[in-house]
Amino acid sequence: MPNPAGMDAQVRQRAFQFLDDLRAVHGNALPREVLAQGFEFEGTRVPLMGPQGIFKPAVLDSMPLSITTVPVNPRKARPYEDTAGEDGVIHYKYRGTDPSHPDNVGLREAMRRQVPLIYFVGLVPGRYHAEYPVFIVGDDPADLAFRVQVDDQRVIAPAEAGVAESAATGLREYITVAAQRRMHQEEFRARVLMAYRECCAVCRLRHPELLEAAHILPDRHPQGHPVVPNGLALCKIHHAAFDRNILGIRPDLVVEIRRDILQEEDGPMLRHGLQELHGHGLVVVPRARELKPDPARLEERYQTFRQAG
Ligand SMILES: [Zn+2]
Repeated sequence: MPNPAGMDAQVRQRAFQFLDDLRAVHGNALPREVLAQGFEFEGTRVPLMGPQGIFKPAVLDSMPLSITTVPVNPRKARPYEDTAGEDGVIHYKYRGTDPSHPDNVGLREAMRRQVPLIYFVGLVPGRYHAEYPVFIVGDDPADLAFRVQVDDQRVIAPAEAGVAESAATGLREYITVAAQRRMHQEEFRARVLMAYRECCAVCRLRHPELLEAAHILPDRHPQGHPVVPNGLALCKIHHAAFDRNILGIRPDLVVEIRRDILQEEDGPMLRHGLQELHGHGLVVVPRARELKPDPARLEERYQTFRQAG
């Protein structure tokens, strides 16, 4: 008879390794079908997520392996405000309203025994960001929610050995705030890339691993929100060229290259990658009107480009 506590820990460690490997291939926006498929553990398939938010694979005894927040539909409000705010604590809603539903009981046991879990955040339909390990650090029955924090220690001493050092020192709050920022950035990137059909708006390059979400107006600007109308999907070179005012985009979506760059002579990257774009329109823009780049933000950004030339 295997030791159930030992096996529980092994499955969790294997799940974290599996996610490390997936992120090396897919980056931080993991396809749902790969997560639902999971990995093999001693001849048994272990999915990482299921149809419900709180998920325990059959191979585990009683405590869940993961919790999931569904992607936001940009046209609808999020059903649960799981990731709202950046106060160093994630509020994760119970399953339903019955505190003694087995899923809720399982998470309470995970809290008592301080086992590490995975937190999946839906970025866009079918794509999830994984944060791990996370720990259930509190239970708010009045709010029908658990309090969740992220840690960087994957193996935590059993509860009877005392509170994890990171929990005692406030380090988890700091790690959780950083994780919440990462999630918001990933969400912005995924939404912008989806709106631009995973193409660079300037050159149509189709490799998501070479694409980024550029801000039209920067983060620090009062209108620099991480929303699709303030974004552009650009490949890394065009993103850098846009940020450094080598490439500008007029409010009528025509690309301009800075005058001094147009006069340079160099190899094919300069010629095809920059100079030949001058005067051409963006090749990909979102189809939905409310996702198109905002002309007012483009105008303001274009004036900065003009001043740089
Ligand atoms: Zn490009």
